[in-house]
Amino acid sequence: MQIATRAVHGGAAPDAATGAVTPPIQLTTTYARDEDAQLVGEFIYARTDNPNRRALERCLADLEDVPADGCVTFGSGMAATTAVFHALAPGDHVVAPADVYYGTAKLLTAVFARWGLESTFVDMTDPSAVAAARRPNTRLFWVETPSNPTLAVTDIRGIAEVAHEAGALLACDNTWATPLLQRPFTLGADIVMHSTTKYLSGHSDVTGGAVLARADRVGDAFLAQLRLYQTQGGAIPSPFDCWLTLRGIRSLACRMRTHCDNAERVAEFLVSHPAVETVHYPGLVSDPGHAIAETQMERFGGMVSVQIRGGRDAALGVLRRVQLFTRATSLGGAESLIEHRASVEGPESATPKGLLRLSIGLEDPADLIADLDAALAPLAS
Ligand SMILES: *Cc1c(COP(=O)(O)O)cnc(C)c1O
Repeated sequence: MQIATRAVHGGAAPDAATGAVTPPIQLTTTYARDEDAQLVGEFIYARTDNPNRRALERCLADLEDVPADGCVTFGSGMAATTAVFHALAPGDHVVAPADVYYGTAKLLTAVFARWGLESTFVDMTDPSAVAAARRPNTRLFWVETPSNPTLAVTDIRGIAEVAHEAGALLACDNTWATPLLQRPFTLGADIVMHSTTKYLSGHSDVTGGAVLARADRVGDAFLAQLRLYQTQGGAIPSPFDCWLTLRGIRSLACRMRTHCDNAERVAEFLVSHPAVETVHYPGLVSDPGHAIAETQMERFGGMVSVQIRGGRDAALGVLRRVQLFTRATSLGGAESLIEHRASVEGPESATPKGLLRLSIGLEDPADLIADLDAALAPLAS
């Protein structure tokens, strides 16, 4: 079945006990046993497994096309990433993008470095730099595409080749694209990570994460370690979190269609505006990532970054004047968001000072364009 259909039906059927079409939220932490100490049903204790988490994991596994036990969910995207690094061993080496999600970089340098995990950050759009970063102990290459905040596009097939030649695994942070727009396993990735906080849940109301892996690529022991980190490490999503996330996924296909339609319209408006220096959107034919994006993405997503002529002050002026866009970090919700990325990242940030990152929501695109047009107008004269 097509992916839009799997998003609507994956992981759950009407409840056998009541006929409820929408699954009940099973808040219980523990499950009863009979007189002989045998379980009444198939669950033991909520941290170990529970019906809402199982439904969400089956649905996500279905969307990324891995066996049902190949998805492990967590209480945040960062907990999911932690599970992947933790399944490596002290003394192993990771190659990650120089423009990787800020939290992922911080996790490697401030948490896992203390544990003996080595890491190198490289320009993932330059295959020779990636190959040169390899060491004898390199176990994992991590890619994130399109990247944050300049929407650089990494050739997943190309990096998969480098990783496999080195006897290492390739993990892909697929948060921005979602399984609707990009299927990393079909491009050679061995592990896929999602922050389900973003498009998958889709309503800016639940934090969560997932790791997907194929046992035939990572091995049974690696997959078992991911599961062990979930059940014993305990960074789990609550049953309600899982229920909300699955509820969001039901409308993923139609939401992504609108996010993409709207982002295309906004990017085209911005690219021709005199106050704009550069628009970063892989859907634009002029974008440096467009050619590769066309070979690995269905469409180009809902994120657009724009560099305003005049740098920091000009960008902050636009930020101040928008009325419809909400000034906030994060992405993937129904509402459009705008942020001055360098301010969010702090003084160490390498992001251009004139860059604004837009999460294009589900509003009418004409209203979004009118809002940006009015905010840019004082700069255009
Ligand atoms: C938000 C995000 C994360 C982190 O996920 P949380 O759910 O906030 O922990 C990781 N990678 C990318 C690309 C993200 O956008």
